[in-house]
Amino acid sequence: MDIKEPKNIVIIGGSIAGLMTGLILARLPASHTITILESRPAAALQSQAAGLGLGNHALALMQTIIPTVEEFAVRRGVMQFIGKEGKVVAERDLGIEHATSSWGVVYRILRREVEGLGGVYREGWKVTNLRREEEDAKVVVTCSKASGGDDGGEGKHEEEEMVADMVIVASGAYSHFRKMFDRKESEYAGFLLWRGSVPESKLPVEMAGAREHKFLFSMVKDSYCLGYLAPNSSGSLEPGQRSFEWAHYDYCPSSSPEFKQAMTDIHSHTHAQTVSRGLLNPDVWHTRITRAHAILPSPWAKIAELTEGPLVSAISSSLDTKALYWDNTVLFVGEAYTQFRPHLGLGSNLAAFQALRLGEAMAGEMEGGLEEWERVCGEFASVFAEHSAAMGVRGLTGAWPEGYVPVVDHLEGV
Ligand SMILES: Cc1cc2nc3c(=O)[nH]c(=O)nc-3n(C[C@H](O)[C@H](O)[C@H](O)COP(=O)(O)OP(=O)(O)OC[C@H]3O[C@@H](n4cnc5c(N)ncnc54)[C@H](O)[C@@H]3O)c2cc1C
Repeated sequence: MDIKEPKNIVIIGGSIAGLMTGLILARLPASHTITILESRPAAALQSQAAGLGLGNHALALMQTIIPTVEEFAVRRGVMQFIGKEGKVVAERDLGIEHATSSWGVVYRILRREVEGLGGVYREGWKVTNLRREEEDAKVVVTCSKASGGDDGGEGKHEEEEMVADMVIVASGAYSHFRKMFDRKESEYAGFLLWRGSVPESKLPVEMAGAREHKFLFSMVKDSYCLGYLAPNSSGSLEPGQRSFEWAHYDYCPSSSPEFKQAMTDIHSHTHAQTVSRGLLNPDVWHTRITRAHAILPSPWAKIAELTEGPLVSAISSSLDTKALYWDNTVLFVGEAYTQFRPHLGLGSNLAAFQALRLGEAMAGEMEGGLEEWERVCGEFASVFAEHSAAMGVRGLTGAWPEGYVPVVDHLEGV
């Protein structure tokens, strides 16, 4: 396969990794044909959306569309710690380039740009199979128009086959293509992530630091909370109209009744990954508010009470550095490739790193081509998977994992 020749490229999954990769490939001089197949309608995707962290690579990629970060995200420079009594006890410089936006804002910007470059985004199309055509080195992609549903839809109204020169698998951590290609499965990390948002105008006074773009943080036993300002659901970053996005990490063994209750929605459907907005059982949420009052500094308990439409995710992770299959015609990116624990907000950074480097490899600017791309992605993923997991242990237990040496410890002494 000549890497610089125009190709028919099919991307499975139209979330952050699929769109970032689609954007970079659509811009290459080779004029590739880009089709993104996304099983869920945009509204169903939005119901799981909340704040999205953007690291240096994600920011660099987004800035190729909108150069001024402040138009789509809030830069975070300082961490502010709220102690048990609900008062600010310390502040630390973050010391890295990081910003927060929302999944919905980033999704909309990327999608508009990809479609503007001629990429085709097909909503409601679920890829059901990939088949290799040995003689002409093509991949046959079978997809069906889905009827919706949390796992990408169950109905099969129409079926279609597409012939691709290259397939990018960006279908997330629970994609069945991970099984098909015998990749490592994601493992539950032992805790739940409760998330939600509150209008900036309702922020408790103790949390005023968020308005100065500080990243708020509190640690309690086996649990920690963080929060920051981000664009509101319509994308506005106007002071006073932004959204305070919060997250609470809390231990919860998968064998416990609490786990089962949390992950079972109002329709008695049990979810493996996320119970979306509007589906969380009100009794479960009521119990959470009671727990928030019992264990968290009071401003966080107030925030929990003010939250409308909370959601919960079971946190899992995986690390698998193989990205190329079938003579480099099938490539894995984003969480279908490797899933970080979310503590450093670097999921989208991995997707951006892979997309930017893939652009270089496909333009012939990377010596070693796709194999070198796979190698650099593997290095990147291994380093940040370790940092992300270590940060989670530090936040939840107060200590770094044995043998892990942090580059910097923002939590020391708080
Ligand atoms: C709806 C949604 C909301 C999210 N919100 C946040 C957030 O607010 N904050 C945050 O930090 N992270 C969020 N994430 C996770 C975030 O997108 C990832 O952490 C990371 O940015 C990159 O993920 P990804 O694109 O690799 O995988 P994902 O975001 O998981 O996307 C995979 C996509 O593939 C689609 N898909 C799966 N199987 C098929 C198939 N067979 N055919 C076609 N399509 C398929 C899924 O519907 C999904 O849209 C969200 C993910 C989703 C899906």
